[in-house]
Amino acid sequence: MVLLGGTRPEAVKLAPIVQAMQVQGRMRPVLVASGQHETMFGQALSSFGLRPDVRLHIERPTGSLSELLGELVKALDVHFEQLRPAAVVVQGDTTTALAGALAAFARQIPVVHVEAGLRSHDLRAPFPEEANRKLVAQLSTLHLAPTTRAVNNLLEEGIAGSEVLLTGNTVVDAVLSIARMPTAYHDHRLPDVEHRATAGKSRLLLATMHRRESLGAPLAGILAGLRSIVEDHPDVEVVLPVHPNPHVRDQVVAGLLGVDRVHITGPLHYAEFCRLLSCARLVLTDSGGVQEEAPSFGVPCIVLREVTERMEAVEAGVSVLAGPDPVLIAHHAARLLAESPDEGANTRANPFGDGRAAVRAEQAIARLLGLTSDCPAAVPQAVLAGGS
Ligand code: UDP
Repeated sequence: MVLLGGTRPEAVKLAPIVQAMQVQGRMRPVLVASGQHETMFGQALSSFGLRPDVRLHIERPTGSLSELLGELVKALDVHFEQLRPAAVVVQGDTTTALAGALAAFARQIPVVHVEAGLRSHDLRAPFPEEANRKLVAQLSTLHLAPTTRAVNNLLEEGIAGSEVLLTGNTVVDAVLSIARMPTAYHDHRLPDVEHRATAGKSRLLLATMHRRESLGAPLAGILAGLRSIVEDHPDVEVVLPVHPNPHVRDQVVAGLLGVDRVHITGPLHYAEFCRLLSCARLVLTDSGGVQEEAPSFGVPCIVLREVTERMEAVEAGVSVLAGPDPVLIAHHAARLLAESPDEGANTRANPFGDGRAAVRAEQAIARLLGLTSDCPAAVPQAVLAGGS
């Protein structure tokens, strides 16, 4: 059983399934690292005590998407021929996921798609992710959908209902299990930041931004919004782990240089990130995964994008769309910071899952392979509707 990933969110969202397979013992998971974002993939896996079993080495002289896709398909084909996996599990909407689905399909190996059915209905945004996830859906045998909306998107595209299971998102399993574990911060400032936040001496804002489409003017707006929040709220501290993309990093550092109470760090280990998230008062992000994780700790989320394919959180009242407008960002932050921690977004359940998605995924894959006849139950609707 191959589980293929190449980026940080793939590591976080596949790791709970690897662990569920290890616990059940009826399938042998082989974790293959595509090398798309090698360091961040490995770093995120390490928080789960996992390492890739196989690492692909591909040449990327031009750095183009087509080159990455083509080289990955070629390299994966060689591995699939040697390993002959019973199925290939891919996650989400990366170029790695698309390459894995194409290479497995070409070898007539069943493809299992984790986090299936997310749609923005705009092929240009997010690019190339919207196209990737639609193409992966066409090649998959089993679609593990995180929410009812995702199930409906798949059914509307003609995917058979018998091939779709509503599991919830494995990121909820991940964040809950990892935040419970003790962690040591690599950045020497963070233990004090955590202490001040948990002792009620400060209110912690966690901010992340990495999307290609935010670079330039939108990112400048986001940074201006962050500066306003810090100026308007003297007890607010911001931790901003900056993405290694040099364009993002340079603009963030230049835009926030010398601003008091803003701590810019390198990418945090997943365990460190979860820990800070669990004691944050507010999150500002353009990340998909972070929008799904924040509600597990009742932390409201300001989404730094014009659109999101995670509307479930907006509808549940746990996220708000602000885009890159500094005035809107500061306005929503002021509103959410004024709420008592016992009301509003802080009290609602996570609309993305109940923390048992990986168990359902493991059962569904075992059934696909004829290892059990038990049909896993879908995640209860009441959970995804923000109920119990
Ligand atoms: N994350 C992390 N360290 C950080 C920032 C984020 O481990 O410094 C985690 C975060 O908890 C989430 C994942 O990375 O699970 C999201 O990755 P990213 O924002 O790169 O991708 P997206 O979710 O937007 O596809």
